[in-house]
Amino acid sequence: MNIARLNSEPEIFYSLQGEGARSGCPAVFLRLAGCNLHCSWCDTRYSWLPGCELCEHDVAARVLSYGCPAIVITGGEPLLQAAAIERLLSLLPADMHVEVETNGTIAPTPALAARVDQWNVSPKLAHSGNDSTQAICPQVLDAFLATQRAWFKFVVQSENDWPAIEALKLPRERTILMPCATNRAELDAGRAIAAELCLRHRVRLGDRLHIVLWNDKKGV
Ligand code: SF4
Repeated sequence: MNIARLNSEPEIFYSLQGEGARSGCPAVFLRLAGCNLHCSWCDTRYSWLPGCELCEHDVAARVLSYGCPAIVITGGEPLLQAAAIERLLSLLPADMHVEVETNGTIAPTPALAARVDQWNVSPKLAHSGNDSTQAICPQVLDAFLATQRAWFKFVVQSENDWPAIEALKLPRERTILMPCATNRAELDAGRAIAAELCLRHRVRLGDRLHIVLWNDKKGV
């Protein structure tokens, strides 16, 4: 599988989940290389580039070396490498908690739909700069919804974002709004806007704990 390269090394690290419904939980992070979108505010542009090619046995050994019973597979867009993820998960303990971060443009394979414990699906809105026909795929979002293990995280900048979110008709109790931020200053500025939107539309506010803790440092 192709792993994002950070400081010449494959990006596999131990940290706290910074976003979503399991924010604060310890996990091993595996960042896969390659993305099918190009968000204007992407904070992991290096993941768009070809990364390090490692066999799944090597990746599994590195993941298990941390002794943590949870993994977060992120990117880039990890589902571009769905077959490799399936092979990796077959090498990890069956009771390991598996989360996948995805932009919601590629439906999960049946094997992944059955194995992944939590899908963190983050469709990208107009301010991401992507073509909406590429970034918003209602049928794919329905496939994630059908797993009954998906949360839908939206990066928001203003009230103007809400109509596009509402149009997707996703369950509000599974919807999380997050400030658009790549550093603490942006997070502090964007949190109040996101909080107002959450109050107005009765959905959950999501913070970005890794930015609170480590600002814009990568690989943590
Ligand atoms: S989907 Fe994620 S990794 Fe891909 S460009 Fe957007 S923010 Fe970056």
